[in-house]
Order: sequence, then structure tokens, then C-alpha cells
Amino acid sequence: MKLSKMLVGTLRETPAEAEIISHQLMLRAGMMRKMASGIYNFMPFGLRVIKKIEDIVREEMDNAGAQEFLASAVLPSELWKESGRWEVFGPEMFKLKDRNEREFCLGPTHEEVFTDIARNEIKSYKQLPLNLYQIQTKYRDERRPRFGVMRSREFVMKDAYSFDKDNEGLDISYNKMYEAYHNIFKRCGLNCKCVEADSGAMGGSGSAEFMVQSEVGEDEIAFCTHCEYAANIEKAPSTAEISEKEELATIEKISTPDAKTIEDLVKFFKTNSKKFAKTLIYLSDGKVIAVMVRGDREVNEVKVVNAIGGAVDFEMADAETVKAATNAEIGFAGPVGIKADLLLVDEEVANMYNFIIGANDTGYHYINANYKRDFEGKVGDFRKAVEGDKCPKCENSITVARGIEVGHIFKLGTKYSESMGATFLDEKGEAKPLIMGCYGIGINRTMATVIEQNHDENGIIWPLAIAPYQVIVVPAVMKDEEQVKIAEEIHDKLHKMGLEVLLDDRDERAGVKFKDADLIGIPMRVTVGKKIKEGNVEFKLRSSSENEVVSVEQVYEKIKEEFAKNNMRL
Ligand code: ATP
Ligand code: MG
Repeated sequence: MKLSKMLVGTLRETPAEAEIISHQLMLRAGMMRKMASGIYNFMPFGLRVIKKIEDIVREEMDNAGAQEFLASAVLPSELWKESGRWEVFGPEMFKLKDRNEREFCLGPTHEEVFTDIARNEIKSYKQLPLNLYQIQTKYRDERRPRFGVMRSREFVMKDAYSFDKDNEGLDISYNKMYEAYHNIFKRCGLNCKCVEADSGAMGGSGSAEFMVQSEVGEDEIAFCTHCEYAANIEKAPSTAEISEKEELATIEKISTPDAKTIEDLVKFFKTNSKKFAKTLIYLSDGKVIAVMVRGDREVNEVKVVNAIGGAVDFEMADAETVKAATNAEIGFAGPVGIKADLLLVDEEVANMYNFIIGANDTGYHYINANYKRDFEGKVGDFRKAVEGDKCPKCENSITVARGIEVGHIFKLGTKYSESMGATFLDEKGEAKPLIMGCYGIGINRTMATVIEQNHDENGIIWPLAIAPYQVIVVPAVMKDEEQVKIAEEIHDKLHKMGLEVLLDDRDERAGVKFKDADLIGIPMRVTVGKKIKEGNVEFKLRSSSENEVVSVEQVYEKIKEEFAKNNMRL
């Protein structure tokens, strides 16, 4: 392809709205353009990368025995009402009505649709196991679309749904997807960790996320450097620090007029935050839930939701609810006399001695509070694990880091097949609910994540397997007829060999062309310059600073070597 005839779209300036490197580079390299908040148009180079990732996904899914399918993106509300998710999904769902006032949504995910297909098409155990997948556009009206296609409102997802007759079958289907996901991310050039994820209180017997370690990730992962343990922080158990035993002292109400935060209180009492237990108040489907953790800890809301058996709406309580529950302004909540439907006490708090709590009275705290003597609640692990907590597998310390979730595999069990009546006839002719799994990969998010892991100050460094083009041939001086002619010959020969090759025949200085090639991230560059007089050209890998002088004939060998190194056939 001749660059002079193509829409290139590289930008010199970094667009102000792009906060993270992948977003900046996708705009600067002309991969995409923004149309509205969280909505992007893919430009030719960007689209080629998307297609390549899709092809890798397709190949690995097919190899794992899954079958491609394509459902509609416009979904009738009735299906969602059957599963009970029409309301649950909330404002994240793009809803619409047709001319007859019939309700639809733009599919944010497709469990209902595939369960519906299964109940219509699967009659007998003889048709099982079955795994159907699609690569399709999803719509989610995210509360905070950000970081370009990392979290957009329209994105391409590969979603797969497996159907089995029993749990052993589900385990096999799930493990096949686990393997396929490893292969997919490896082939895309991503260094990825598979972490245990929370499967929620509502069912599902296992779930794992594929995470790429990155400062810009919105998730946190806890992992052990001594064993293979890795989990989403939401799921990671935390270790209770054992407080030193003390004689129980008398509880006493103290006036703390302006001390509302733990920081204020630490100053006021001239002690440290470990001597406090804070009480946080949540609203969960209309119920008031109070949660106590040590002053320096954070509540893990997922653990709390699981402890109460799941919740549709779960959020920090508003000022009014807090006032009603505590009879006090925000900042003075405590467990003694609180009007809550449930009090959850972190196990660490239950094992502390003579600590400070809010008194449910504006301007007051209690000192020398003790669990059981002064208040009681449901004790459990309700706090967020932190760096240095014990690994639940080998007892060494865990490390905590940020991560980007690129994929998710989930054992659904019978959650949807039961609510939607998707059954099959087993060997004895009895109707049983299908055992399901679901498996997702964000295609555009994968693309952005690859850039986060593969770039330098000059631009993107695409792994060969997903680069928009594999080689770029650059004639250094367009006025030099010999350079142009030989560059064209090399380009044509590479094209005939089956390579995806660009010829930068634009009437620009060599420096400008190199800058663009680097920004776009083409893995291999062949420059035809002055040395062509001796029959030589320059060969450069985008990932290396070395510029090798080789003969024209050697170029083809060099390129073949690169393909072999990347386990790719030419
Ligand atoms: P997140 O916690 O990041 O919102 P999720 O749990 O909602 O993700 P799933 O419903 O499991 O995501 O979707 C499967 C995959 O789709 C995710 O692993 C991710 O790669 C991708 N994905 C989800 N939401 C978005 C989005 N708004 N933009 C781009 N990709 C997304
Ligand atoms: Mg989400």
C-alpha cells in the first residue's frame, strides 16, 4: 500500500483530553477519533489492529471447540424481565422504544439471549457440551467513560457461553476457556495474570479475571511472589492484626467538639489510627447496614455485599439516613445504640482492646470501648487486604498492584437456566437445567492495554502479530529516482510474499517519515537511501535502536527471521 494514497491521520500534538499513554497514542497515531464521550470511530490503522485481535480470538476459540454465532445487538426487554435484570442493570443500560412503544435495550451483555437460544435449540443431553461465542459490539452507558477505549460506552466484546449437563462438564468447558485465554493474550503480546475473582453472592461457583499489571488499571490485584496465588483485591482475604492484650478499662464518653475524621481524632487523642474503630453506614436495598473496621482500614464493599447475601442497590448512606441511624451529624457514628438493620464488625475490631468509637451524639466519642461488653454484631472479614497481609496459600506476604481487566471467565451454574427455564432431557429422560459458563474478552480494551505495555517516547511498538502493517519501506529522498524505484521493487516483492507492507512514497523528508513510522509502530522498517549505490539498505526493528546495513537480498532473510522468532508463518 502506498502511504500517499491512504488516510494516515497522525498528529504531532498530544490531544489534551487524553490522560493515559494508550489513549494519547491511539489518537496521535491515527488509530481512532472521538465522536462523543466514550464513543469512538476507528480509523483504518486502528481497525486493522482490532481485526487482527479478533482473528486471534476466533482461531483460539475455534481450536477450543467453540462455535461462532452472531446475536442481534437490539434486545427485547421481555428476556431481561424473565431473568430479573431489566431493573437490576440500572442506568448502565441503553434503553429504547420502538414506534409501537415496545421496550428494547442495546445489549450490554448477552447471557439472556444465549440462554434463550439454548432453551429453544437444545433438547437433549446428546447435544451437550456446547460452547457458542460471538464477537460483537456492546453498549454500556458507563457512569465514568474514560481513558479512551479502556472504558468506553460502545465496545467490541468476544463473549462465549457454554452449556453442559453437569458440573464436571462445566469444569472441562471452563478449563478450555482458561487455556484459550492464555493463548490469546500471549499471542497479542500481553503479559497477563489470571486472578481469582469474586463470583458474587448470587451464585456461580468460580470466576477468574485476566489482569495486566498497570498503573492505570482500575482494579487492584493481590498476589504472592512466592507461590502462584493471585486474586482481585475484592476477593483476597485479609489477615487480622492481633492487638496486644489489655485489661478492660471503663468506657467513657468524651467531648470531641470538632474532631470528625480519623485524622482529627488522632490529633485530638494524641494516639494513632489503630486505636480507633470507625463505623460506616450503607444503604442496601433500603436497609441500613453499619460496618466497623479499624481506623486505618478500608471497607471491602464486595465482602460486605456477599455477607448480606447480595444486594441490587448498595451505596454509602446519605446524610439524612446517617442522621436517622445515629441521631448525630456525620463523623460521630458508633455501634452503641445505632439504629441499623445489621451491624457488621470486622474481626480485627472484635479483637481490639480499649478503643475509641463514635458515640452517636454530635461532638462526642467513647474511649475504652470493647467488643461484646459494649456492643455486638456479626463478626467477619469485611476489610480490604493490604500489601503485607498473609498469602492464604503459603503464608508469605502478598503484594498489591493495579491491574487492567482484559478478560473474565465465570461459572454461572444454573443462575440463568433456572430463571429462564432452559432445560434439557438427561439420559433418564428427566428435564434438568443447563449448567452454564460465560466468558468475555474486551477487544478494544485489549488493544489499548497492549499499547500500555508496548510503547516508548516515540510511539507504539506493536507486537508483530497484531501490527496494522508488518513492514514499512521508506525511500529517503523522493527526488532520487533510483531510491524510489528500488523501494517500490522491495515493496512489491514483499507484498507478493504475502506480507502486509507499506511504501512511504509521500513527498516528505525522511525524518518526518521515520517519526510517523515510529508513532504508528510498524515493527520493521526498510530504508532505501544513499547506500543503495553499493546495493545496501537499512533494516531496523521498531523495538530496537539498532539500524543494520544489509544488502537488498538480505532484507528478505531478516524479515523471515523475525516471523520465525515470533512463531508466525510467512
Ligand atoms: P469492568 O469491571 O472493567 O467494568 P466488567 O466486569 O463490567 O468490567 P464484563 O462484563 O466481565 O466486564 O465484560 C467482559 C470484558 O469486557 C471485560 O473483561 C473488559 O475487557 C471488557 N469491558 C467491559 N466493560 C468495558 C468498557 N466499558 N469498555 C471497554 N471494554 C469493556
Ligand atoms: Mg463494568
